Amino acid sequence: MTIEQVREWRKAHPGSTLLEAKTALMKEEGIDINEHQEEIAAIIDQVAKLDYCCPEMRNRVEERCEQHPDPFDCPDNLFYRNTLGEFGIIVHDGGPSYIKINYCPFCGENFTWPER
Ligand SMILES: [Zn+2]
Ligand SMILES: [Zn+2]
Repeated sequence: MTIEQVREWRKAHPGSTLLEAKTALMKEEGIDINEHQEEIAAIIDQVAKLDYCCPEMRNRVEERCEQHPDPFDCPDNLFYRNTLGEFGIIVHDGGPSYIKINYCPFCGENFTWPER
């Protein structure tokens, strides 16, 4: 499954979430969702980590200024992405705090996963 395939599928299914697209593509590839829960979760994790919902979010998360290599130190950095691929709004309280967000403020992407 490639990012391009996921994008194509979502274009054909307006309003669908990232997970719905990935699950549907796995079914198309003949993967039995119920028999391979753990492997599928790992694949979803991998793709989720690599993929951004929109270029705006990618820019905001990956942007670093010269004075502040740590995103939590820079007052200009507003968004953070943790090692699970989840997004958050940085709380500038002097520590590494952020508030997890369920939707992208730029494109409206739903980051929550439907219950299986
Ligand atoms: Zn800075
Ligand atoms: Zn977005």
